[in-house]
Amino acid sequence: MTDVHARLNSLRDAFKQRLPALRAELADQWRRFTETRHRDSLAALHLTVHSLKGSSGTFGFHSTSEAARQFEQGIRRLLDTAGDDTSWEPSQLDRLSGAYARLNAALKLDASQSTPMASDDLNALAPARAEEWTRALYYVQVQEGSKIETLLGNLEALGIQVINDSLASLLLLEPEPGALPVVIVDLGDETSLRTLVGPLKLLARRCFRVLVLTPKADFATDLTLLRAGAFASLSRPLSNDELTRSVMRALDPEPAIACRILMVDDQSDVAAYFQTLLQAAGMTVKVVLDPGRIYDQIDRFDPDILLLDINMPMASGTEVARVVRLHDRYLALPILFLTGEESVERTNLIDVGSDDILSKSIDPSSLISQLRTRAFRARQIRAKMTVDALSGLYNHGHIQHLAKQSFDQASASRPLSMAMIDLDRFKQVNDAWGHDVGDQVITELSQLLRLRLRSADLVGRYGGEEFMVLMPATQAEVAARVLDEVRVTFSQMVFNAGDTSFQVTLSAGLCDTALVDTLEKQFKKADEALYQAKKNGRNRVEIAR
Ligand code: GH3
Ligand code: MG
Ligand code: MG
Repeated sequence: MTDVHARLNSLRDAFKQRLPALRAELADQWRRFTETRHRDSLAALHLTVHSLKGSSGTFGFHSTSEAARQFEQGIRRLLDTAGDDTSWEPSQLDRLSGAYARLNAALKLDASQSTPMASDDLNALAPARAEEWTRALYYVQVQEGSKIETLLGNLEALGIQVINDSLASLLLLEPEPGALPVVIVDLGDETSLRTLVGPLKLLARRCFRVLVLTPKADFATDLTLLRAGAFASLSRPLSNDELTRSVMRALDPEPAIACRILMVDDQSDVAAYFQTLLQAAGMTVKVVLDPGRIYDQIDRFDPDILLLDINMPMASGTEVARVVRLHDRYLALPILFLTGEESVERTNLIDVGSDDILSKSIDPSSLISQLRTRAFRARQIRAKMTVDALSGLYNHGHIQHLAKQSFDQASASRPLSMAMIDLDRFKQVNDAWGHDVGDQVITELSQLLRLRLRSADLVGRYGGEEFMVLMPATQAEVAARVLDEVRVTFSQMVFNAGDTSFQVTLSAGLCDTALVDTLEKQFKKADEALYQAKKNGRNRVEIAR
């Protein structure tokens, strides 16, 4: 983190070094205006003062920023006056002259003083580090209740280590900094929470994510839990997928820590400042100084957020936003303005299709948290368009799109393996236990596929109980070994239905690109291999020959 401090300070210093030159330029423009009293020279002055206001605010030179703000206001008042250039009142010009003198003095003072430091603690900006995150889950049973062992067993099958423990010993445990340990507190048939509120609060304060399993869903109980800092409330009877979903959500590290920001700003030092700041917070930031290159950058960089400056010479930020919104394919991209402007009318900016306006003198931590929230929501919306609601996997349309992409990228040395997976005798599961229970099995297999496959592998729900898996740079034999592990794990999972339990198996067919020359043929062969697996007795993985 210290090198971020150093970098930010050197950017500030560089800006400070430029203050005398900026002051001279301002003096020059002011002189030109007072000599000519032309509207054009006043407009030029306005642009300079405006950008000075934003940049000095960004770098923490607040007296310059404030003086620039007042001077700019005066200029704008004159510019807004109708009539020709000579009709400006002498009293107006006098007042402007006073504002100029104050800005000039502030600039002189700021250039001679030591560089201000950021007030924020930059250490607080760093995201939780992924490697500090473990898939361990503590389980505390406060009182006996109906058994959830089989559910916990399924979690273990998903690769989550379940550790039985007591509240007393968890309270003594010091979690590693940055870690977010997850604990399920099972209240069994206990209905009184009174004695538990204290310990639950302590756990929450130690950054535990606390999931409380209560005897039954109840608003008053949930309110108490909320106030005690609980992460989630679960109630009996607890289903497979309810538990898995809550636990997965709790185990997930901070969302959108790697959010991608495309920033358009013609002032390279201001852009560099924000880039350094946001990158220190774990974001990926790309800066475009020239809005003319924006399509290219959006397509290649694929940002979560477009962050625009408002006053730029080639095209204003509002124009850039409008131009971007002319295209359907960028409709879901959030646009935020980062501007030195305070008086901008928010509604006008919202009209051009922007989503919000942030000030250039915003403090770093609120900027970061605003961007994180926006990026996270944008990702959720984008995900909705490509993801299947029940399973959380890619939907039919998207996995087909990905299959096409992956097929095109495959080569002899990096073959693509495609697998089709189908649940065995699934109709019987539905018939015996009902559609809802069947849905839970589908969800559970989806989680298993997501957890057990590599992050480069792509998993989609192809149809009802059929899945497509794409494994880039993987030969069919290797893919078959991986899928066979999934098959075995799945066959060992136990599902609850009422008082009884049951198990399900799956069959899979595989084909890699070494065998075929079109995507259609690969799909057909994988499907035939699946048919073969069914014919050979189910609960098996077959490779196309
Ligand atoms: P097998 O594949 O082993 O030959 O037998 P099967 O019984 O699984 O047969 P098939 O694949 O042809 O049947 C699919 C059944 O899956 C039909 C339907 O009842 C069930 N199914 C399909 N989509 C869903 C779904 O979204 N939810 C639930 N619960 N069941 C589904
Ligand atoms: Mg089927
Ligand atoms: Mg089936």
